[in-house]
Parts: sequence; C-alpha cells; structure tokens
Amino acid sequence: MLYLSPDQPTDPIERPYPIQRVPATGSLAAAITSKQPFGCFTHFWGGRTIPCTAEACDACKAAAPSRWHCYMTAYSHPNQLHFLLELTAAAAEKIYQFTREHGTCRGCHFKANRQPQTPNGRIYLQTQMLDMDKYRLPEEPDLKLILSRLWNIPLDEIEIKQPAEPIGAIAFATLNRGNHDLTQQKTNESRQ
Ligand SMILES: [Zn+2]
Repeated sequence: MLYLSPDQPTDPIERPYPIQRVPATGSLAAAITSKQPFGCFTHFWGGRTIPCTAEACDACKAAAPSRWHCYMTAYSHPNQLHFLLELTAAAAEKIYQFTREHGTCRGCHFKANRQPQTPNGRIYLQTQMLDMDKYRLPEEPDLKLILSRLWNIPLDEIEIKQPAEPIGAIAFATLNRGNHDLTQQKTNESRQ
C-alpha cells in the first residue's frame, strides 16, 4: 500500500540539504549556519566523492589518492536555500580565519568564485559578518545527520572529534571504523 500524505515530514532529517560546491563560472554566496566547519579525507571514487573510512575503505585499498574536504551548512537568503557546503582545505582557510577571529563561523557571509573559471580553478573566497539586524539565520542543522545520510554511513560510525585547540581552531570530524584514528595518521604523513 502506498500512503500519500498531505503533511510535511516532521523529522527534519527527511528534508535534504543539497550539497553545493563553488561553480566553475559565476559565484556562490551564502551565510554559514554551522558553528564550525568539520572536515575529513575523501576520495573521488566510483564517479563521486566519498569519505575515507580508514581500514574499511576500498579506495585506500586500491591506493586511490585522497583530499581533505571541509563541510558546513549555509543559507542563501536570495534563494531561501539551506545547503551543505563542500570546500577544499585551501578554500576553507578563509572560513577558519573568520572562525578564529569571531569564535564561530556562524553568521559568516561568504562569496566564492573560481579563477580561472574552470571546474578545478582555484577558489577565491571573501568573508564578512552577516548583517544580523537585517537577516535572520535558520537554526544550525545537525551536520553529522546530514553527512550520515549523504554517505549512507550509520551515525554510530561517525565520530565528531573535539578541536585540538579551543573553538576557533581547526576541528576534525573523523569517520571512524574500528577506532582507527585516521585523521592523526594522515596528518602525520603531511599530505597536501
Ligand atoms: Zn580511504
């Protein structure tokens, strides 16, 4: 039996947050709703970006290269769109800088574009504090839930690590299988 409901789902995780990356042409602008960004190593594997899940990771077994990616939620007032933002480590530096200066990245309004305007062009990102008198920000979504659904990883296999330094410093979300501390290991290998 199929039940068609006139009601919206009450569970907020049923409402997807589409993933957005900085486009090749034009720009992406929005205000960050997360309090801090979280990142992990990812692989481009099977035609999509997947998180590195340590010793259970097929991409690692095949010696596929990995890159650090950073995730946070952001809201575009003109489009009324709340989305998941994915940035490379280099592009996220400005966000971390803002976070260090303000103690949070929530309320950071950014504008990002690529130069040259190609899919892999370098990302340039400008930040400023959102005019809070003029704009309201939606509640901070549960990033762990969003990533769990995006990557189809059970919640209990995702561990949010505490920042090595107080808020404002880089924090890591390690996708943890078998208590293997991948983040530490890869950091020590000084990957770029
Ligand atoms: Zn891996």
